[in-house]
Amino acid sequence: MSELTDLYDEIRACQKCILGQGRTNAVPGEGPEDADILFIGEGPGFHEDRQGRPFVGAAGKYLDELLNKIGLERQDVYIANVIKCRPPGNRDPRPEEIAACRPYLDRQIDIIRPRLVVTLGRFSMQRYFPGASISRIHGRPKRVGNIIYYPMFHPAAALHQPRWRSLVEEDILNIPDLLAKLDELEEEESEVPQAEQLSLF
Ligand code: URA
Repeated sequence: MSELTDLYDEIRACQKCILGQGRTNAVPGEGPEDADILFIGEGPGFHEDRQGRPFVGAAGKYLDELLNKIGLERQDVYIANVIKCRPPGNRDPRPEEIAACRPYLDRQIDIIRPRLVVTLGRFSMQRYFPGASISRIHGRPKRVGNIIYYPMFHPAAALHQPRWRSLVEEDILNIPDLLAKLDELEEEESEVPQAEQLSLF
């Protein structure tokens, strides 16, 4: 058992909002506890609810393909969602459901301490870029402390919108550079006094 698996047990027993009553399985998230990259989607769909795992349907297959484009496999990254239980009929999550679930994702991030947080779609983007429009800010990283937040279109949306598909594919290709830049910055900053730190982001 670890702090993360304890958290999974809590999520699986959660009844803090109405979605707890309709789920087959909660979908806490999965991936290495020390992952550098954490992807945040919206919430479980039909297949995720059945299997208790994130991104296992069509959008998940596409996410796997996107990861492969940058030399990664799904097991290399952590994958979570804003909400952990499927909304009926895959409707959008409601503000009170997002609020009830928020502490779970906060705790996951505290435990994993990723270097790069990739938001997929507008619901996860809202956590870090409140009020922003995804068409305007996708692919534009924001650095806060030692974490880079990187907004991308949701793979499901990109699957259905050829225009977004090429954008999502361009955006994923920047990830290795972002991590390399963060390495460089952290190295420079460890050599410069705190007050003189510069940021490229
Ligand atoms: N879409 C999401 O946002 N999350 C999943 O887990 C699956 C599809």
